Amino acid sequence: HTPTLHTPMKVAVVGTGYVGLGTAALLAYFGHQVMGLDIDQGKVDMLQRGELPIYEPGLGELMAECGDRLHWTTDYSAAIPGADVIFICVGTPPLPGGQPDLRYLAAAAQDVARHLNGKMQVVVNKSTVPVGTGDWVARIIEDHAPDYKAHQYNVVSNPEFLREGTALFDSLYPDRLVLGGNDGAGVARLLELYAPLIEQDFVAPAHVPRPEGYTRPEVVATSLSSAEMIKYAANAFLALKISFANEIAGLCERVDADIEEVARGIGSDARIGRQFLSAGAGWGGSCFGKDTSALISTGEEYGYDMPILRAAVEVNQRQRQLVIAKLQKHLHRLQGKRVAVLGMAFKPNTDDLRDAPAHDAIARLNELGATVVAHDPVAMDRARREWGHLKYAEASSAEDALMGADAVILMTEWKEYRELDWNGAVRTMRQPLVIDTRNVLRCVLATGILEQIGRRGQGQVI
Ligand code: NAD
Repeated sequence: HTPTLHTPMKVAVVGTGYVGLGTAALLAYFGHQVMGLDIDQGKVDMLQRGELPIYEPGLGELMAECGDRLHWTTDYSAAIPGADVIFICVGTPPLPGGQPDLRYLAAAAQDVARHLNGKMQVVVNKSTVPVGTGDWVARIIEDHAPDYKAHQYNVVSNPEFLREGTALFDSLYPDRLVLGGNDGAGVARLLELYAPLIEQDFVAPAHVPRPEGYTRPEVVATSLSSAEMIKYAANAFLALKISFANEIAGLCERVDADIEEVARGIGSDARIGRQFLSAGAGWGGSCFGKDTSALISTGEEYGYDMPILRAAVEVNQRQRQLVIAKLQKHLHRLQGKRVAVLGMAFKPNTDDLRDAPAHDAIARLNELGATVVAHDPVAMDRARREWGHLKYAEASSAEDALMGADAVILMTEWKEYRELDWNGAVRTMRQPLVIDTRNVLRCVLATGILEQIGRRGQGQVI
């Protein structure tokens, strides 16, 4: 892939996690010269060997098409001085009180500042940060850049909206591009940098084709604070939508209505929209939990209560407990019962385990004395590293997990699980109890499992 770009720029991407890697690959694909930087030597070593430290479908293929426009380093002095644009994509994980931990951002901003070249460079904040952080980053730069002079650099907020699992599609064909800055120069440079994306005049990669009917993203140019707020408000609204669907689902169960039918019925109203109305084990992942808490705690800082958001979080917590309550309803005491957990990642097509509902389910099953057998098509290795505090046996396949189990909880709707031979696998269970927390087995139900369970007369799919 050799892009025809009018103004190739030099770009540094600080932080090579899910967001940084996607950003680096996208910009290199467009023809820019990109240097990805991380303080994690292990990650950089892997990247330099051509390996990926995360699982993201299609990312390796896209990087392979970038030729020698993509480089990796741990050295700020190699990445920053030559860069026209510097993206900060470090993590902003939640602190116990709900506020985001801005330690990594502060450290990155200081190191960036120390290596600025005194000419016009643009520092772009892509990490999700509370309103006002852009100004704070600007102050850090003033304090740490020895020969800083006003207007020699700009801080711009360019929040990220990619979804793990479909990161490339989301980055290449976004609904909108939000650029927030208090001075036109920084935003103008980003418009130039993103020109191929805005004009959509790049050759679409074969493995991530341009969707039919897609034209171009809407460019939303705002102030720095509005851009920072847009990111939080967007995530909070999506979390709210899921919690709303879950709350209605609870009532559906009681009045014998079907949440899937109800969601279809309300989602087809264009004012509501179909997406994010799936009832289930609750939202998880690295963003929704942390961003809703961050927004609530910003409200607290200003003495402003946010009851709608607080309720969304509460409904989500209740929803997670419901999975175990359903097991208890059918199996009664869980002590000594063998429970298969299918899916550990918070959603399919990623290995990200942050705030995954499966974590809480396994932890609770451990407390209640159940024997847990878990499986995930890609996240098992990561779970071994990050979930060492949980007790579970690793199954080598979904079939293996179900064998001899008293119940199975389908936590993540991986394609493999949808396509499992459920009729065969359920026959190997001690009791054929299937808790489908993602409502994806309906089509399977229609093709026989219900009948089989009916014959055995002791279990059911819930
Ligand atoms: P991540 O944890 O996967 O990656 C962060 C990376 O930053 C790590 O590799 C870490 O080693 C590196 N890092 C930390 N301190 C550093 C420093 N001082 N210098 C250089 N590198 C440093 O995080 P992520 O999921 O990519 O998220 C990054 C930000 O983007 C967060 O603010 C997150 O809220 C936001 N975001 C994430 C997603 C998502 O789906 N993951 C989507 C939109 C926005």
